[in-house]
Amino acid sequence: MRTLVRNGTVYLEDRTTVTDVLVDNGLFADIGKIDYAIDGCEVIDATGLHVLPGLIDIHTHLDDTIGKYRLADTWASGSEIALRNGITTLCGFITQRPGASLAAAVDAALSMADGHSHCDYAFHLTPVSFEKGDWAYVERLLSDGFRTFKLYTTYREAGLFLDYRNLRGAMERIREMGMPVLVHCEDDALLSRAKALTAGTVTPYGHALSRPMEAEIEAVKRVMEIAVKTKCRTHVVHVSTAEGARLIAQARPDLAVTCETCPQYLFLNEDKYKETDGHSYICSPPLRSEKNRAEMWKLTHEETFDAYVTDHCAFSKSDKDADRSDYSKVPKGLPGIGALVPLMHELHNEPAVLARRLALNPAKIAGLYPRKGSIRKGADADLVIMGTQGAEREIRTSLSVVYEPYQGKTTGLEVRRVLLRGETIVEDGLLIEGKRFAGKRA
Ligand SMILES: [Zn+2]
Repeated sequence: MRTLVRNGTVYLEDRTTVTDVLVDNGLFADIGKIDYAIDGCEVIDATGLHVLPGLIDIHTHLDDTIGKYRLADTWASGSEIALRNGITTLCGFITQRPGASLAAAVDAALSMADGHSHCDYAFHLTPVSFEKGDWAYVERLLSDGFRTFKLYTTYREAGLFLDYRNLRGAMERIREMGMPVLVHCEDDALLSRAKALTAGTVTPYGHALSRPMEAEIEAVKRVMEIAVKTKCRTHVVHVSTAEGARLIAQARPDLAVTCETCPQYLFLNEDKYKETDGHSYICSPPLRSEKNRAEMWKLTHEETFDAYVTDHCAFSKSDKDADRSDYSKVPKGLPGIGALVPLMHELHNEPAVLARRLALNPAKIAGLYPRKGSIRKGADADLVIMGTQGAEREIRTSLSVVYEPYQGKTTGLEVRRVLLRGETIVEDGLLIEGKRFAGKRA
């Protein structure tokens, strides 16, 4: 089974060039002008089109229960909107529940994705008890292909909170295993203080007041200090403050530290909370001030953000509306998967940046590189062929929710074809029926 992609503008790790890409048996077999005869080969003419590695969103929440609500998107619906926008791999989370084993969480998460995802997938692990036996199990998981951990500096009620001393202990252990850690940075003490100070403000804007920027900035500072001490490779998730992002960038010459941000912190601001349906924008970290948003936007043009992710966490409209009169009871999260690629294209208008921040870097952070994230010989032939001058279409974050955080926004980006491990899975923006549920654990 061979496919030859002819004459596209191909985004390689180190350069962009108009050339051919040969796919053989699910892998990239050759890159360069291919003038030799190939038998039984499907030829795709990519003249005038952009050829990128399959894109990757390393931060999504699918098929899970958060608080009392079930998420609106399953692996099937989440991976469908992903593929239709050129995303071939999604990463989710496996979170140990208080009083239950990590093994139970692993089994539950895998059963949700295996055979149900159209695109490839991987998981970050959150163990919450750090007893001796748990680490032995964690090491077994690593030999079974799990590659990343996610730890939290807050969320006491959910049992996720680690104080800085325990975080340091966990990061020491993770570094000994040679693994990286993803960290949610919001200082728990500062959050508690802000919550107490703003108690009584139940409007959606109260959500922004209850999770101030200082909480993120303080936790970033502390986590950078721990990263220095432990030498653990550290990735900061959903950075929402320009100051936090700068602190991470400044730590970089000495540290293997990376960070991500999300479209909501670049395209939306906290004024949304004052609109009629302001509660539907409640997510954590919250949307920030316009001043911060504009500074974040500026930083996207520097080497500050390594990756763009969605933190896709979609709740049905009825769940979002159920307790809308009190922000603290509204489930927190925004849908985003379907908007990621169009919005980042709008921001940069430069496919090379997408190839780096939506494929290469995320693959490295999630431990998927060099098998994914790059058009290189021997890698999985995950490929997107796209045009940028298509008919304008509405941006849609999810197939499951009826409210759109980016309502009214359109894109001329057209995904002509997506290959997943060498097989065409999307044609002209739509999933091919016969290729449903083709996803595998990456
Ligand atoms: Zn998240």
